[in-house]
Amino acid sequence: MTRLELQSATELGRKIAAREISSRETTQYFLDRVEALNSRIFALNLVDGQRALELSDNIDKRLQAGESLSPLAGVPMAIKDVLCTRGIATTCGSRILNGFVPPYDATAVEKLLSAGLVPIGKSNMDEFAMGGSTENSAYGVTRNPWNLACTPGGSSGGAAAAVAAGLAPISIGTDTGGSVRQPAALCGVCGMKPTYGRISRYGLVAFASSLDQIGPLAHRVEDIASTLQILAGYDQRDSTSLNEPVPEYCKQLDAPIKGLRVGVIREHLEHESLDPEVRAAVERAQLLLEDMGVTMVDVHLPHTKYSVPAYYLIAPCEASSNLARYEGTHYGFRSSAAPQADSPLESMMVNSRSEGFGNEVKRRIMLGTFALSAGYYDAYYKKALRVRRLIAQDYRSAFDKVDVVLGPTTPTPAFKLGEKLDDPVQMYLCDLFTVGANLAGLPGISLPAGQDETGLPLAVQLQAPALDEVQLLNVAYQLQTAGLFQQQVAELS
Ligand code: GLN
Repeated sequence: MTRLELQSATELGRKIAAREISSRETTQYFLDRVEALNSRIFALNLVDGQRALELSDNIDKRLQAGESLSPLAGVPMAIKDVLCTRGIATTCGSRILNGFVPPYDATAVEKLLSAGLVPIGKSNMDEFAMGGSTENSAYGVTRNPWNLACTPGGSSGGAAAAVAAGLAPISIGTDTGGSVRQPAALCGVCGMKPTYGRISRYGLVAFASSLDQIGPLAHRVEDIASTLQILAGYDQRDSTSLNEPVPEYCKQLDAPIKGLRVGVIREHLEHESLDPEVRAAVERAQLLLEDMGVTMVDVHLPHTKYSVPAYYLIAPCEASSNLARYEGTHYGFRSSAAPQADSPLESMMVNSRSEGFGNEVKRRIMLGTFALSAGYYDAYYKKALRVRRLIAQDYRSAFDKVDVVLGPTTPTPAFKLGEKLDDPVQMYLCDLFTVGANLAGLPGISLPAGQDETGLPLAVQLQAPALDEVQLLNVAYQLQTAGLFQQQVAELS
C-alpha cells in the first residue's frame, strides 16, 4: 500500500483531483493512522471519523460529476481546538469550555470546508493557547512524535504533532506569540503565521486579540501556500481583518531568488540562549541562500531583549479582559459547588472560574488584571505598548535594507516534558525569537532544517514585511527545495 503520509498535501490533492485515489480512501487511511497512533501522542483530542468520511464521499461525488474543485479538495486535515466548529465541541483545552458546542463555524473553518478540505478532528492545545509545551491542556498532554519524552511545543502542539506523525497532511493552528512556528519547529514541520489581519479571526476564541493570528502547518511550503490561499481575505465579521487584495501565493514559489537581500538577525543568532546546533542550522540556511545568489546582510533588532517582557504584559492584559466572559453562565462549565447564600451569583462565578481554569490561565488573568489596574496601567501596560512600537520600528529599519530576515525559530530543540513546568519564566523565554513578529504584526514561517545529534528536529525562521507573504513563501520554498529539509514523518516505535 502506498504510504500516503509520506506525500505532501499538494500531491494528495492532485491525485484526488485526477481520481487516482479517492478522498474517502485517503481519509480512511489517515483515520486508520489516527486510530493506531493517536493514543501514543494525543495530538487530536476529538476525532469525528464518520463526518469526515461523509465529507469525503461528497467530494468524490462532485469530482465524479466533473466539477473542478480547489487543489486541496478531499485532503484530510486537523483543526486546533480554539476554532469554533459548528455542532462540534470546542474546548480550547480548557475545562471551562467543557460541553461548549458552537452554533457556528469560524470563518477559517467555513473557508476550508467550502474549499473541500476534510476535517478529521480537533487538535490538542495549551489551555486558551497559553503555553509553549501543550502540557497546559485540561484534556491531556501531547507528546513529540520524534521523542515521546519530549514536548511537541505549544500552544498548537497537537496540530504540529499530528502533521509530524502523519495523522493529517495539514493542520490549522493559531499564533499569538509563536504558537504555530514554535511547535512546527520542535516537530520538524513547516508552520506559518501570516500578517496580522490577513486571515479572519471571526470564530477564533480570543486570547490576545491584537496578536492572535491563524496559520497553517504542513510538511511542505507549497502546502502552506495553498492553505493560506484558502484562508486569506477580508471578512466584515472581523473588524481587524485587512481589506487588501489577496495575491496568488503559489505562483511565485519557484521564482529565482538571485539578487534578493536576506538579513541575518544578529541579536538572535548571537543570543546566549541559542543552542549551537540550532545556530549551525541557521548558518546552513545562510550558505544555501548564498549559493542561490542571495546577498546576506547583518541586521539588528536592538529591542529584542524587551520583546518577551512586552509580550508577557500585553498578552495577559488582553487575556484578562477576553476571558472575563467565562463565568459559568454563558458557556460550557458551571461549578456544582453550593453557592454562598449571601452572594449566590458571585460565588457561583468565582467557583466556576476557580475550578474551570488551569493554573497558567489563572496566572495570566492575575498578571493582566494587575497590570491594567489603576496606578499600574501607565507603569506596565502603557510602557509595554511603547516598547511594542519600538520593536515594530526595529523591523521597519531592518526591512529598509533587506527583503526578508533569517534567524532561529526557537532557542533549543524540543525539551523534555515537565522540564519547564515549575518555572514559567523559563517557558516564556522560549518565545524570544517568535514574539517579535506578533508584536509587529508581521508574517513569519518556521522551516524544518535537519536534526540534532539525538534525532530531534531543528528549524529556522524567516520573517518578512507586512503583507509580503509572497516573498516570504518564495524564499522558504527555495530553501526547502535546495535541501534544507527532506520531508520526514516520525516513526513512532
Ligand atoms: N508561548 C506563548 C504564550 O504562552 C505563545 C502562545 C501563543 O502563541 N498562543 O503566550
